[in-house]
Amino acid sequence: SVRWGLIGASTIARQFMINAIRAQADGEITAVMSSSQERAASYAQENNIPLAVSTLDALLGADIDAVYISTTNELHLEQALAAIKAGKHVLCEKPLALTSADARKMVAAAKAAGVVLGTNHHLRNAGAHRAMHEAIAAGRIGKPVAARVFHSVYLPESLQGWRISKPEAGGGVVLDITVHDADTLRFVLGDDPVEISAFTQSAGMANSGLEDGAMCIWRFKSGVIAQSHEGFTTKFAGTGFEVHGSEGSLFASNVMTQKPVGSVLLRTAQGEQELSFDREDLYTRSLRQFHAAIRGEGQPSATGEDGVWSLTSAEAALQSAKLGKAVAIDPKL
Ligand code: NDP
Repeated sequence: SVRWGLIGASTIARQFMINAIRAQADGEITAVMSSSQERAASYAQENNIPLAVSTLDALLGADIDAVYISTTNELHLEQALAAIKAGKHVLCEKPLALTSADARKMVAAAKAAGVVLGTNHHLRNAGAHRAMHEAIAAGRIGKPVAARVFHSVYLPESLQGWRISKPEAGGGVVLDITVHDADTLRFVLGDDPVEISAFTQSAGMANSGLEDGAMCIWRFKSGVIAQSHEGFTTKFAGTGFEVHGSEGSLFASNVMTQKPVGSVLLRTAQGEQELSFDREDLYTRSLRQFHAAIRGEGQPSATGEDGVWSLTSAEAALQSAKLGKAVAIDPKL
């Protein structure tokens, strides 16, 4: 079995990851760590976790094989490096760190220690995105030309905390959502971005100089250009993902989400067709791949390197917005 320690008494763990771990035949949760012993204890009790601790040493000293890190973003680096040093496999939330240089350190450390490092980019596990990826790889839209990602949401009141007020914790919509769009574009297109241009805004929700909306224009290696819109302040926008090719277009609707929902339409000279896809929970699939990677079978659905790519892209977007010009994306991998 794989015994997990949770680093961070977070919302995402409570809503999705605890279930995803327990959905594995060989998944167990041994311990949870919070910065507050009291929060750790109540979180452990609410979620039926045997051990509650408030230090990293105590967590890493427990009977665990792997850690899931879902603390605020400024803490990921140090916690991941300590876990790797203790010989634990690490599934870390995005962004892996606050800078791509730090994320590369995590990748190098995991490689040297021979442990698995994954980035929790859930959207690669969505049936909708896998159906799009497969349709493109099979040539069903001909040569891809352009893509459009609609990923502007309304940040629920319960999450209107560090994301909109703490630059030092890695707040802002670019580190929160643009990283996902970078990863999803790379996965669906099977291509890597080389350049980005971005405008950001503070539309009334975020403070302390943080952005709560962004529009990015991307250029990919193959020549594909893409646009993406990320936001925290739009209540009624809905989400979507389109890829347009020489022989067809894919229109996915309501797919930039944590749930296995939405639809994908293929339009070609032959007409329109809804693509069917599986509706498995995204996080459960992510965990299954991670467990397989621990057994030496394949890789996590998003690797540490994928996390470096998405963070490098987000970093370049922020820099572009600041400088007012396009910025190259080079993950230095
Ligand atoms: P939360 O704000 O829920 O949790 C982050 C930290 O805040 C926790 O580790 C906890 O600290 C502290 N905290 C949470 N609730 C309370 C509370 N009521 N009182 C005091 N402290 C509290 O963040 P999220 O779960 O939304 O995000 C955590 C990480 O996961 C981030 O890196 C984020 O980017 C990522 N994420 C990824 C998603 C995905 O789908 N891949 C989706 C959502 C988030 P402590 O542990 O010390 O108690």
